[in-house]
Amino acid sequence: MSIGHIFYSTFANKCPRCHAAKVFENNNPYSFKNGLTMFKHCASCGLKYEREVGYFYGSFYVSYALQTALVTLFYLLNIYWLKMDSLTLVFIIIGLAVGLFPITFRWSRIMWIAFFTKYEPDYKGHAWEDEKK
Ligand SMILES: [Zn+2]
Repeated sequence: MSIGHIFYSTFANKCPRCHAAKVFENNNPYSFKNGLTMFKHCASCGLKYEREVGYFYGSFYVSYALQTALVTLFYLLNIYWLKMDSLTLVFIIIGLAVGLFPITFRWSRIMWIAFFTKYEPDYKGHAWEDEKK
């Protein structure tokens, strides 16, 4: 795990282990049809994305950190540059948080998977096939 691999797989919507196949079905997070739909396994290396039931509860912490960074950044921008009143600032921050939800949702899940997955570009196992037996 390195920061570069985590960021690449997160922003490119790629499997954290092989960087060859997608994690989410659609690269557009705002697609109503399948923008937030994940594949169960990597099509290239077979990595099971949801390792256990409730695995993605941990990604809430990542999502919280991303949203907090966004709010802090916008707050600092307001103090030093925009200088809006507080009520307007609150509504804009809420609008940004809701509007950017599909992006933070996807990023937080891929980051959460990447935190616990080693980058192995040559991995060719299909461990998930064992579950079918
Ligand atoms: Zn993979």
